[in-house]
Amino acid sequence: MRERPSLVPVPGLEMPPSLVRWSIVLLMLVLAAPVAFAEERRAPAKRSGASRKLLRVPGGERLRSDAALAFQKMHAEAHQQGVWLWVVSGHRSRAEQRYLYRLYRKGLGPRAARPGRSNHQRGTAVDVSVGDVSSAAYGWLSANACRFGFRRTVRSEPWHWEYRPKTTPLPKPGHACPDRYRPLPPAPAEVATPSPS
Ligand SMILES: [Zn+2]
Repeated sequence: MRERPSLVPVPGLEMPPSLVRWSIVLLMLVLAAPVAFAEERRAPAKRSGASRKLLRVPGGERLRSDAALAFQKMHAEAHQQGVWLWVVSGHRSRAEQRYLYRLYRKGLGPRAARPGRSNHQRGTAVDVSVGDVSSAAYGWLSANACRFGFRRTVRSEPWHWEYRPKTTPLPKPGHACPDRYRPLPPAPAEVATPSPS
């Protein structure tokens, strides 16, 4: 009588071949499903080179986590000074950007970038309801946003601000942020160079 070799039994090998085949198919489906569902959300993160999650900012819109944390700080400081930064648009999925771009192309909506070209898809652009450049909200952002890493990037859109901390310089101590799209008001009379008499 032969003795059986003392190998550890492998459960999978004892299954009937059909069951093994179905197990593999099921396993592949389980592995593939989250990838398929995550595709829309993954697209912007892939482009920005980081898979950072999205966080909500006051108003309910979402931004990429680092931009959202910076915006929350900025919002709190503005609020302390009596200014409300009302966010009307933050992160957009590719489908949302495509929809807005189609509306724009048909003349039914405001200017919108081609899908894949908007930093709203990366979660680093935010549209703030500022009215025009003479509003309190715009004035506050113009003077302070750079300290939080935000700046304007589109001349015709005073509401559109982007989080670009690496390329947004801090103001000189005691000075407001420079606003590249709005000329500074004339210097007050007392500090103006006196004209030769
Ligand atoms: Zn925008």
